[in-house]
Amino acid sequence: MSRTMLIAGNWKMNGLAVDGVALAEAVAAGSSATLCDLLVCPPATLISAVGNAMSGSRVALGAQDCHPEESGAHTGDISAEMLVDLGCDFVIVGHSERRADHGESDEAVYAKAQAAHRAGLIAVICVGETEAERDGGQAEAVVACQIGGSLPENAKAANTVIAYEPVWAIGSGRTPTVEDVQAMHAHMRATVSASHGTYFADQVRLLYGGSVKPGNASELMGLTDVDGALVGGASLVAGDFLAIAGHCS
Ligand code: PEP
Repeated sequence: MSRTMLIAGNWKMNGLAVDGVALAEAVAAGSSATLCDLLVCPPATLISAVGNAMSGSRVALGAQDCHPEESGAHTGDISAEMLVDLGCDFVIVGHSERRADHGESDEAVYAKAQAAHRAGLIAVICVGETEAERDGGQAEAVVACQIGGSLPENAKAANTVIAYEPVWAIGSGRTPTVEDVQAMHAHMRATVSASHGTYFADQVRLLYGGSVKPGNASELMGLTDVDGALVGGASLVAGDFLAIAGHCS
């Protein structure tokens, strides 16, 4: 097993050019002091400028979504190939905000992940239960079902990252207990082992996301089956993002 930890920042719909470039420059400047892989996913409007600002650093560039098709009559959408053209290596697909705001089904997420792979991108596939599903004792079943429906059959560990993001923990300041996070990640690894084999399960990186901050990163990142974090709010402050990365070996 050799999984390099990954700390990924999801800036969501935040930042104009001046702030985004300054944030990217600060993350890039601090990145040499970290040991894990780093990824920044700015809004589409800033991908090019952020890529330029981080050029030559060890921070990878990603996007927050892609369309399943390569090109065509899809006004306002951006294809995975276009993201590669902008210098991206990663794309987030199936974030719960897109599943909720845009009605994205597992089938749609599967198609987006396939498109990412087709273009040569690493797909960060997001899954996670709602609070009602957790309270109803269905969290593990929901996440297994999302993985089953969203993870392409021919996905490789090298082109896939899976992020567990309980919907109720995103932006709320609340997190599951470390025992619950470890149990879910072990369950996810067992799920993908059954569908994609033991090599995939041993190698694929499983990120935790949902209110990760410098103050809770140490205990979360120390869990056996947690290979990094998908960070929202705290990724908008370079010092916090880098402090989270500082808790990874
Ligand atoms: C996210 O939206 O992916 C996320 C984890 O957000 P936050 O860290 O703000 O909870």
